[in-house]
Amino acid sequence: MIRRAIRTTLCCTLAFAAGACAGGSPRAGGMTGHAAASGAAARPAEAGQPLTPLVGHHQHLYSPALAARAAGTPEAPVELPADLARVLRAREAGWNDSVALAPLYAPDALVLDSRSGRWIRGRSAAAAFVGTQFGRPYVFTPVSASVDGSEAHVAGHFTRTVEGQPRHFGQFVIALRKGEAGEWRIAAESPSFPQAPAPGPVTADQLVAQMDEAGVRLGVVLSLAYGWGSPLRAAEEDEYAKVRAENDWTAREVARFPDRLVAFCGVNPLKDYALAEIERCSRELGMRGLKLHFGNSGVDVRNPEHVQKVRAVFRAANGLGMPILAHLWTRDPSYGRAHSEIFLEQILPEAPDVTVQVAHMADAGPGYTFDAALEPLAQAVAAGDPRTRNLYFDATTNVTLQMPVAQAELLARRIREIGPERILFGSDGAWGGNPTIRQAWATFRGVLPLSEAEFRTIAQNVAPYLR
Ligand SMILES: [Zn+2]
Repeated sequence: MIRRAIRTTLCCTLAFAAGACAGGSPRAGGMTGHAAASGAAARPAEAGQPLTPLVGHHQHLYSPALAARAAGTPEAPVELPADLARVLRAREAGWNDSVALAPLYAPDALVLDSRSGRWIRGRSAAAAFVGTQFGRPYVFTPVSASVDGSEAHVAGHFTRTVEGQPRHFGQFVIALRKGEAGEWRIAAESPSFPQAPAPGPVTADQLVAQMDEAGVRLGVVLSLAYGWGSPLRAAEEDEYAKVRAENDWTAREVARFPDRLVAFCGVNPLKDYALAEIERCSRELGMRGLKLHFGNSGVDVRNPEHVQKVRAVFRAANGLGMPILAHLWTRDPSYGRAHSEIFLEQILPEAPDVTVQVAHMADAGPGYTFDAALEPLAQAVAAGDPRTRNLYFDATTNVTLQMPVAQAELLARRIREIGPERILFGSDGAWGGNPTIRQAWATFRGVLPLSEAEFRTIAQNVAPYLR
């Protein structure tokens, strides 16, 4: 009764805007809350209303500390010999003028079109290409140069000034050769433009603005603190202090929007400080749940020592009443069924009283290519396996515009096996090529072959830990 009262109050607070929570009653012994949402979905008053998810169940902020780490230590620009510098100044001045650029190239010049992977050959083709590739002027920031007789190379960044700050938007390597009159000519050039530049900080203000744009009421913010204890990177000095600082920052940001955001603590479950940090996140920072990223943390569930540590973390979270969001996918090339079976048999049973949310449908996203990992979990849910009683799945970044039809159909089949009432919408951090929340939902709806009623159920799902 108490639980229902809490659920009704919270759920209605959340769902008010979408009208999803008026007086539904929980199914006996079933998954409370979903009945309310589904019941509301059937009401004719809702027909024709735009369908937007109530909750982004898998979102991230990006702290200034992580942004600074991603940007790396800026390399000092190098001074070029005057005759080489002259060539680059002429390239900058002629940025959109193929006629002015042509004399800078050797007759047999070679330029890479990094977007198509095509090599462009010959002076006039190279100049014509380079003179039409840029929308605005830029400068070269050389970070390395060498001259050896009649050969030279320069490497560095394409740079523009944005809001008073130099911003590198591409990289180049230019090889030069001296012509007959002793002047430097560009012999070969390979520019590249990163698809997913390192993001600047993403604050709670920015996330809430994105939620508003999408009509999303509530966001689950997963701290990226485990990234400071990741074996995929060089070891950090004062690692645990950095993990704490990241969780502190995330908790502070989230606390600025108490009616819109909840925070999940991040920690690498293999670390000696994992249990202490989880307890601190819960008791001192008031973080609602726990995010574990097996891939980023180097967890191998086929290693019994790792399983012991992860089990202890699941037990601790269960004891603290913290729901767990588990990103099961790892870089192990054999990742698949065996990993999910170990999770189901040895890890999940340690947290029987809290919601466990499997991230990205047991995949990594973007896309859906690790069906072998989801299949045993989906089948266990479909068979009513009691261990899966509190198991949910977020379909974060699994649906993409480029997704093959067969992949979308397979994912839809798994969603039906699990039941759409256990599928949670989320969109991940909107950087590194990931879409915004609004874009992610539009793609999800546009690409997956689900019925309108199934989309409605997913849109109105509110994870039990938010009710
Ligand atoms: Zn994520």
